[in-house]
Amino acid sequence: MNYIVFDLEWNQSPSGKVISNENGALPFEIIEIGAVKLDEELNKISSFDRLIRPEVYLKLHKAIEKMLPITMRDLQKGKSFTEAVYDFLQWCGEDVIFCTWGDMDLFQLQRNMNYFGVENRFPLPFLYLDLQSIFSETYLDGSKNAGLNEAVEILKVPRRNTFHRAIYDADYTAEIAKRMDRKLLENNFSIDTYKVPQKSSEEFRIRNSYIEQYVTKAFDSKEKATGYRELRSARCFICDRQMDRKIRWFCDNGKNYYAAFKCEKHGFITGKFRVKKSDDGKFFALRTMTRTDRSGYMAVQDKKEKERERINQKLESER
Ligand SMILES: [Zn+2]
Repeated sequence: MNYIVFDLEWNQSPSGKVISNENGALPFEIIEIGAVKLDEELNKISSFDRLIRPEVYLKLHKAIEKMLPITMRDLQKGKSFTEAVYDFLQWCGEDVIFCTWGDMDLFQLQRNMNYFGVENRFPLPFLYLDLQSIFSETYLDGSKNAGLNEAVEILKVPRRNTFHRAIYDADYTAEIAKRMDRKLLENNFSIDTYKVPQKSSEEFRIRNSYIEQYVTKAFDSKEKATGYRELRSARCFICDRQMDRKIRWFCDNGKNYYAAFKCEKHGFITGKFRVKKSDDGKFFALRTMTRTDRSGYMAVQDKKEKERERINQKLESER
């Protein structure tokens, strides 16, 4: 098994008008793929870098032009996306774990593959390591996401190169991975949700002893996803017993749903879910159940109180 630490740079429409074809819309066009391959011991084995010749947005967006140390002239000497991505996938090889800084890169990679008609053979469920999320949880309090330069600073990674070249950012991200506790890399998988289950039998759950993530099948409407029975079930993810519903599912300002339960054997378990729209226009939910203690339960209780106050204030002002 190897780790593929990768990073992308992308361009976006200079005019703001997003271009579509029969495979969907392409708000962000990838212009560089950079990656570092690490072995199981996190030693660097090789690296990969391709500049990509744009085919959709032929001018760089102003903000991107300012940020990137690359010009359109450099990109014009690059390969086509299709060629670059086939090279990349071949270079990755089999039995790899993808690692990225944030949750955008795998998603944008697959969206570009779809747009350019490259077959998506990634597995379902597609697990990966979001090093930004792991870093932010471990070294900050998890409430905000650390920038790559911030993490480089905190972990004292030598600054050899500029940021915002995919190959250099991938290299920095790999250096960060090397400095992290190995246990963190074994227990903190994220689920990529570019491809979502289409039927119940494809739904999946990943869990360890204190957390379970569950991705539902896709529905035609948001309401159908939100009301899905299985999503609201009160079974303990550890022992499958029916739990006590301490706080019923409630919605926090239209986005996240929360609930709290108590299993007679495993104590307090809190739940959180969010309905998301998939790239093909359907709706699915991503739910996390967490084994916690009284303070975790109280935190949900507080959220519910705040939500109740918000609704009361709203009613008050409308009166
Ligand atoms: Zn239980």
